[in-house]
Amino acid sequence: MAEADVIAALATASGRSAVGIIRLSGPDLMPFMAGLLGRQIPPRRAVLTDFLDADGAAVDSGLALFFPAPRSYTGEDVLELQAHGGPTVLQLLLRHCVALGARLAQPGEFTRRAFLNDKLDLAQAESVADLIEAGSEAAARAALRSLKGDLSGEVRALVSELVDLRAWVEASIDFPDEDVETGDRQRWQQSVQMVRDRIERIRRAAASGNLLRDGVEVALVGRPNVGKSSLLNQLTGEDLAIVTTVPGTTRDAIRGEFLLEGIAVRVTDTAGLREARDPVERIGIERTWRAARGSDMVLLVVDAGTGRTKDDDLIAAELPPAAKRITVFNKIDLTGCAPSRRRVEGGLEVQLSALTGAGIELLRQAILEEAAPAGLELEGVFLARERHVDALARTAEHLRCAGERLTELEVFAEELRLAQRALGQITGEVTADDLLGEIFSRFCIGK
Ligand code: GDP
Repeated sequence: MAEADVIAALATASGRSAVGIIRLSGPDLMPFMAGLLGRQIPPRRAVLTDFLDADGAAVDSGLALFFPAPRSYTGEDVLELQAHGGPTVLQLLLRHCVALGARLAQPGEFTRRAFLNDKLDLAQAESVADLIEAGSEAAARAALRSLKGDLSGEVRALVSELVDLRAWVEASIDFPDEDVETGDRQRWQQSVQMVRDRIERIRRAAASGNLLRDGVEVALVGRPNVGKSSLLNQLTGEDLAIVTTVPGTTRDAIRGEFLLEGIAVRVTDTAGLREARDPVERIGIERTWRAARGSDMVLLVVDAGTGRTKDDDLIAAELPPAAKRITVFNKIDLTGCAPSRRRVEGGLEVQLSALTGAGIELLRQAILEEAAPAGLELEGVFLARERHVDALARTAEHLRCAGERLTELEVFAEELRLAQRALGQITGEVTADDLLGEIFSRFCIGK
């Protein structure tokens, strides 16, 4: 599937730096070496050499590296010029590449070629971008695991299990005279169940990986003076928010962050929700709703002394339906209740005291439980994209249907086929061209 043209791009960030790298990839880079270096260089060896402009004059000198096809990142000839990182020099060199017949690369085009030449599968190619974008150490490790092929390996093993199973089932359809024995069906059933279990594990690992990458946005909402600011300070262990007995003190959103099993929990303390005449407070209240709408989880704080009031109910009714919800009954030191946590319809309820800290640990657990309902997988987490999660969900659904239709061989076989197809989309075995375009367009140029 080799591409005919030569692509060139700056592989390092633009601006001034110690070193700037220009990378070329194409079916034959000999003429480019001649033009850019005035010589041919040996494969896979760093060579100190002059870099020439279109007139043959040296514009810089640096290291050149040549990786002949197929043993290169893209699977094509690749030439890397490590020049001094000044924009002028790099632009001159790039212009010379174009004069020699190269085209400036589109975002992700090098990795796209690596994929087309079977150097990487699609999940690995995507993890290249994830690794570059990783915002935390845990996310970087998870991306590297995918890049090294952990996710792809698991997916391929399951695809091959499905291929085997389908071969048996299709054979039984093709030879209807031979009865399918009960033992066969049991084996098929077990095989489907085994694949389903492993898909579930991958889904959990992927959900955990995504949580590690993205963290959780939590908004504290409630009437004024119920103890939202005190709760933020307790959760983060810092004095971030001003605590006073004067209702309406918190007007601007205040953000704090803490870690729960490596997951970044970002909490926003907001203005108390009440009818406000003060225009500044009204703006604060508008921001509260905005924060609540943008969060994954809402902590609705109510006063344990009064219990849930009508006003609390009004606030609860306005909360975004998609956000998970924990109702916090605060100030139990005044009511004498013991700290507790229980699940009720529509979320969790926690009784605690933000003043004494009693029950805070229960709230942390509750946040973790709501953020990772299937449990947090810490071993072998993957960074999964929406696309992967979606493909895993479709695979699981087809396998569920297959498991229920074991006696109708044609339907069973068709569900298995669809499950295999959905799974294969993760590694790119069956992927439409437009999807490829979409995936690689999100890469940076030069990658
Ligand atoms: P906010 O307006 O909801 O942010 O509430 P604050 O955190 O500013 O607290 C309002 C008042 O309630 C302050 O005087 C706090 O000291 C007090 N308070 C907050 N949490 C508790 C608690 O758990 N127990 C008691 N006794 N007082 C609390």
